[in-house]
Amino acid sequence: MRYVIIGDGPAGNAAAEAIRRRDPAGEIIVLSDEATPPYYRPLLPLLIENKLTQDALLRDDLHTAPRVTRFLDRPVTSIDSSKQRVTLSDGEGLEYDRMLLATGATPTLPPIAELQGEGMFVLRKLTDAQGIRQAAHDSHRAVVVGGGRIGVKAALALRSLGLEVTVIEMLDRLIPLQLDPEAGETLRGVLSTQGISVMLGEGVKGLVREKGKVRGAVTSGGKQLEADMAVVGVGVRANVGLASAAGLTVGNGVKTDSQLQTSAPGVYAAGDMVETTDIASGQAMVSGTWTNAVNMGHTAGENMAGGQVDYAGALNVINAMEVAGMPVVSVGVVNPTEDYETYPHRSPGSYRKLVFRGERLVGLLMVGDLRGAGVYHALIREGKDISREKNRLIAGAYSYAQHLTPQVPVLDSYGVR
Ligand SMILES: Cc1cc2nc3c(=O)[nH]c(=O)nc-3n(C[C@H](O)[C@H](O)[C@H](O)COP(=O)(O)OP(=O)(O)OC[C@H]3O[C@@H](n4cnc5c(N)ncnc54)[C@H](O)[C@@H]3O)c2cc1C
Repeated sequence: MRYVIIGDGPAGNAAAEAIRRRDPAGEIIVLSDEATPPYYRPLLPLLIENKLTQDALLRDDLHTAPRVTRFLDRPVTSIDSSKQRVTLSDGEGLEYDRMLLATGATPTLPPIAELQGEGMFVLRKLTDAQGIRQAAHDSHRAVVVGGGRIGVKAALALRSLGLEVTVIEMLDRLIPLQLDPEAGETLRGVLSTQGISVMLGEGVKGLVREKGKVRGAVTSGGKQLEADMAVVGVGVRANVGLASAAGLTVGNGVKTDSQLQTSAPGVYAAGDMVETTDIASGQAMVSGTWTNAVNMGHTAGENMAGGQVDYAGALNVINAMEVAGMPVVSVGVVNPTEDYETYPHRSPGSYRKLVFRGERLVGLLMVGDLRGAGVYHALIREGKDISREKNRLIAGAYSYAQHLTPQVPVLDSYGVR
């Protein structure tokens, strides 16, 4: 059996590993359009900061995996699912028995012509990080367009290299998908102590250039900023071009059945390019998260090798990070509408918000003190009725032991606790 995997990121690699374990005789080919072996994408800011070398980013565990052949720098240009064949950029064709699409996502750029050109960077690939690091070497000031997770990480990396950095964010808070206004404001304070300026509620109109070189930026409100380079992090879109051209069903990402098989038999999809369901809100979404990519890749790989595993759906928001020494965890619905109940809790140096829909815990945001995050996360993922525990959860008095002990309700009914 020959398995062809398009994309050498965490989704593709998790699938290769699952196939390797389940089908010891299978031949696995991983095709990548990048020249480097697999690496930890979320650590790219550390490469910019010179805190990690390129070698330290590489996923050593994967490079030598038996029975996995990697074709680096060999983009796939088309798929013919009726002939079970993919074509590479040099015209070579490869036949497959089962195929996985794991092509990830590409940063989007605002449709502003004046933004694009020399001195403007995105941050997704190793080559992007190398370009940013090189440009930072010759720059004094940077403007970061977009205050999401990528923009904030890029801003901190550039600041640590000594640049003056301004972050411009269109919405009213930083990392708007993962933080609420209160946590966003705390983060803004943290960035400010690092010397990073943040402009909220502002877009960017364009970059000012002299002889092609970036000299500044103009905000939507008409403010002028001096800058020698710009990093744009305003979101990503799923890489669905190959799938669309091959006639697969595509929405915001490639659509699959519960076992992650696409509309073409024998062709599976996983990771940032898949449209899946958010288990917290029940809404369709395209995930942008490492753990979701790994889980999807693993499930797809199992099924490609003969398993019958259903994919449970992902959490749109699931993030643990430490920003300039401030630990943050966000899971599920963190910016609820009026259909939800919200319980914020503040203590010196920490903030916790639980979000319920009916008797289900659907969202968590923690800043500072992260105790209990694992239990809350498990409860959100399980989506069970937790009416008996709700008050203890809100009070922060629910423990891991209670979560793991199935007889707790029995003890309860005997008045033991
Ligand atoms: C700077 C940064 C920080 C991040 N921080 C976090 C974090 O803190 N937490 C978190 O959960 N996630 C984080 N992420 C997101 C996380 O890295 C992604 O969700 C994850 O990498 C998605 O995995 P994937 O396998 O679906 O896609 P990718 O990792 O994008 O891999 C897809 C691969 O397929 C290749 N490819 C595309 N088209 C073709 C083709 N035609 N032929 C061959 N190859 C192709 C791509 O070049 C790429 O190498 C971060 C990402 C970045 C860039």
